[in-house]
Amino acid sequence: MSTKYISTRGGGTPLGFTDVMMTGLARDGGLFLPFNIPCVRDKLAVWKTLPYRELALEIMRLYTDIPEHDLKMLIDHSYSSFRHREVTPVVSPDGELYILELFHGPTLAFKDVALQLLGNIFEYVLARQSRKLNLLVATSGDTGGAAIHGIKGRKDMKIFVLYPNGGISPAQERQMTTVQDENVFCIAVNGSFDDCQGMVKEVLNDLDFRDRFMLGAVNSINWARLLAQVVYYFYAAFRVMEKRDVAQVRFSVPTGNFGDIFAGYIAAQMGLPISLLILASNENDILPRFFNTGIYERGSVRKTISPSMDIQVASNFERYLYYLVGRNPAVVRDLMCGFSGTGRLEIKMPASGQLDPLFAAGSCDTESALSVMRDLYRATGYLLDPHSAVGVHVARMFPDPHRPVICLATAHPAKFGETVQRATGSKKAGRHEILDKLASLPVRREVMPASVEAVQDFIARHS
Ligand SMILES: *Cc1c(COP(=O)(O)O)cnc(C)c1O
Repeated sequence: MSTKYISTRGGGTPLGFTDVMMTGLARDGGLFLPFNIPCVRDKLAVWKTLPYRELALEIMRLYTDIPEHDLKMLIDHSYSSFRHREVTPVVSPDGELYILELFHGPTLAFKDVALQLLGNIFEYVLARQSRKLNLLVATSGDTGGAAIHGIKGRKDMKIFVLYPNGGISPAQERQMTTVQDENVFCIAVNGSFDDCQGMVKEVLNDLDFRDRFMLGAVNSINWARLLAQVVYYFYAAFRVMEKRDVAQVRFSVPTGNFGDIFAGYIAAQMGLPISLLILASNENDILPRFFNTGIYERGSVRKTISPSMDIQVASNFERYLYYLVGRNPAVVRDLMCGFSGTGRLEIKMPASGQLDPLFAAGSCDTESALSVMRDLYRATGYLLDPHSAVGVHVARMFPDPHRPVICLATAHPAKFGETVQRATGSKKAGRHEILDKLASLPVRREVMPASVEAVQDFIARHS
């Protein structure tokens, strides 16, 4: 029996996986979570021998109501679009540092791991239900491209992507706007990523509109995305535990919306021996401040060289909050309603001075990220993208000789050519042919003000 899902704010009746996936955001404004998280400690010995896709099947079948044979087909199909046999390999350029490479999918971003699967599951479910779906996405760069490549050309689906005009890298923008499929709409919003995300939330919370235009979400609030990401924590931990003959590992996760690291949190709850999750942010440090003081307080967004993490309000934070306050939906509702009014919420710090012993958190400024990129490149020839460099820098703030740290590499450096050049002095370093090919293609996009009405009107005319 697969688990049912409930809202972090306690509203509605529990739903199955397929419904949760098609719904995205719960109707009471909360986020879906599984009613219980299965403990898999007694399975680890077998799971560590499995190749990626088989491991994915074992993990996902615990959480989905899709028949196993179909789920297997969906997983196999999704990961056949990856360029690496292991899907998400672990490498060690200097023999010290472990890098979990998550960028071997079609858009060179870790988000492909989830969105290739999501596109396939959506298509599968829609075909069975004879339904159509319009997906609405806000992106700070990588989600949009990965979502478009998961959805483009599929039957019964359209995708509308909102991104901050001028707020993402040129390569990221081209990966979206050069897609010619008619079911893809790229909307450059004159505003910040938080504006885009706020607009998506508002449009989805307009329940009449959402029902009339059959809207769904693929932002990392979609549970299926988190589920797909849980898999690589297991896969990578097994590789490194075996190699180093240790019983526990740590992960360092470049964090924006708290989706990726929350998948690690789920893996830990399932019984994967993770001793520490290191949350790494850039100068937009609302989350490190929270973990270090108990105060979650919105500031203004600063543009950095790791734009996919230029986020103040982390959309998955509410999921973590639910567990932190002892699974009490009334408390979550109060805290989140308070936060949406005042931009601030506070959790009392325990006497230990540690909000949660499973987490450590720190931030990394531009100079530090550039020097991490430069030093590793000079020493080993290995190039990190600026997001992954943030994770490596913050990992080094928490040394532990007995528990190796696995740093998540969330994008291929070629997506951030300008920054790579700034760090290494080389124009050629880290280029990728997939991106080079996009330079000559025609561009399709709309420019729009940061207005919910304008977006609703556009969807109404094009859905
Ligand atoms: C989206 C993204 C992140 C942040 O992931 P979250 O799940 O939002 O925390 C980090 N790095 C890159 C390259 C990304 O695209």
